[in-house]
Amino acid sequence: MTSRNILVINCGSSSIKFALLDPAHSHFALSGLAERLGSPDAVLHWQQDGQKHSLNMPSADHRGALAQLLPRVEQAANGRLHGIGHRVVHGGEHFTQASRIDSASLAAIRSTAPLAPLHNPANLLGIEAALGLFPELPQVAVFDTAFHQSLPEHAYRYALPEVLYREHGVRRYGFHGTSHRYVSQRAAELSGLDPANSSWLSAHLGNGCSTCAIVNGQSRDTSMGLTPLEGLAMGTRSGDIDPNLFGHLSRTLGWSLEQTEHMLNHDSGLLGLSGLSNDMRSLEQASASGHPGATLAIEVFCYRLAKSLAAMSCALPQLDGLIFTGGIGENSALVRSKTLAHLRLLNLYLDDNANARCVRGESGAIQRAGHPRVLVIATNEERQIALDTLALLN
Ligand code: AMP
Repeated sequence: MTSRNILVINCGSSSIKFALLDPAHSHFALSGLAERLGSPDAVLHWQQDGQKHSLNMPSADHRGALAQLLPRVEQAANGRLHGIGHRVVHGGEHFTQASRIDSASLAAIRSTAPLAPLHNPANLLGIEAALGLFPELPQVAVFDTAFHQSLPEHAYRYALPEVLYREHGVRRYGFHGTSHRYVSQRAAELSGLDPANSSWLSAHLGNGCSTCAIVNGQSRDTSMGLTPLEGLAMGTRSGDIDPNLFGHLSRTLGWSLEQTEHMLNHDSGLLGLSGLSNDMRSLEQASASGHPGATLAIEVFCYRLAKSLAAMSCALPQLDGLIFTGGIGENSALVRSKTLAHLRLLNLYLDDNANARCVRGESGAIQRAGHPRVLVIATNEERQIALDTLALLN
């Protein structure tokens, strides 16, 4: 097979994550992170051939960082870069799949910015910088929301006045779609099932966390909503709360909208409950040495995850398996076992040895014999973005 090098870019407001890969191979030829962009401490870190490198780029912006990256990408790709795939967080209702970047798709991404005011403008910065530097190269946008555009209306509508949906786009969109799609396809492959004829529950558990019900290759429900705050307890996000909390904190503590919003997104979840950390690994260690907040945070995390998976099962005709992915899903035997202890009504049981074995990149089946499949699968959003980019270039 001829090599097809795709550069995958994921831009935040002050960072760019990148990976150069050929989807025919499992490894990244080059990968890294530019961070603190726009500040005197802007820095580029990258890995190539097992070696780590860094370069200070004082005050470099997104374009400056990509300009530093360009010669390294070209060299790693032997001068043959075929396209660029951009991760874009929100595609609204406009994008049901990846899209070649042109003036029409750029305008549509821009018009979606009010739905993702922190993310889409940052993603656009990266796209515009890359278009400026690589004008000849085909570029593709791959959306976190697109996979969930197949949700039925009863799953995506909030029980709110219709005008808010019709005129202002207030509905559930869902995120992490690239990851849920990738791992559900892998799950079908690993199980010898047809992706177009199989049903999965998926739990993407990283710093952000969401569940998804996938039927015949399509998302039928998911736990995140209008924004990534809805659903599970996460690293620093609260997940579901009673929305009257906004009024309550305003009346009792005089908190502004912004204060409550900040608290729900940045000071809550595992961090808020434990008073210690947003990081599951640290919490597991602290809990083992008797920290009550860490223990409570893990209990709440797992119970709410189990409740969400049980709710997602309403969207499935049958259960071919449950998938754990993301940093916590791929590594925490404790979270997997505590979560499944709440899901006996779905007949889900773990093989303790297999569960303990599937950590640090080890994927596989971890269910007890005679019970529904439970799979640990390493997600690879970069690879999925590269595959989507290639599919559009072909
Ligand atoms: P991600 O955003 O997918 O990189 O996932 C980050 C989360 O995965 C953090 O909460 C980490 O603490 C967690 N994580 C990574 N490795 C482990 C581990 N060995 N045990 C428990 N949690 C882990």
